[in-house]
Amino acid sequence: MFSGKSEELIRRLRRAEIAGQKALVIKPAVDDRYDVGNVVSHAGASMRAVTAATSAEVLRLASGYDAVGLDEVQFFDDGIVDAITTLVNRGTRVVAGGLAQDFRAQPFGAMPTLLCIAEFVDKLEAVCHRCGGSATLTQRLLDGRPAPFDGETVQIGALDSYEARCRACYEPGTQAHVVAA
Ligand SMILES: [Zn+2]
Repeated sequence: MFSGKSEELIRRLRRAEIAGQKALVIKPAVDDRYDVGNVVSHAGASMRAVTAATSAEVLRLASGYDAVGLDEVQFFDDGIVDAITTLVNRGTRVVAGGLAQDFRAQPFGAMPTLLCIAEFVDKLEAVCHRCGGSATLTQRLLDGRPAPFDGETVQIGALDSYEARCRACYEPGTQAHVVAA
């Protein structure tokens, strides 16, 4: 989050369009922040996008396109790995952007497999909200405090509930309730 993933995805797909390729951005139906018909980066860049609820739908929508961008790919079901492999084997260029770790600092969805099978991987870093260092972790905050480890994984929010953090500033959520007397 906040690392410029969507910005980079848009940049690459635009270049494909400039090169005369038919390009399409698909985002998971779960991610409805900002704008349903577009993929929008935190910095404000946007590109027309369609939503898909399942990886089977991704495969159907991608048919006939030369280049396909998948935004927030961690939110798709596990079938997304096979769907991407099928597209790549057909000669489609696939650019997938996703969050590698969830707010618990655990591997997120199909991302570990995708990172493993991808020809090219660019790991982008965000800026730590606390110290300004390089951030690779996502701090989830509830009422300004680290969210508990067992909280819901999927809660797409804005700046007030998630922060990019470096490893030193990341605060793991506790699993136990603290009762103060
Ligand atoms: Zn930091």
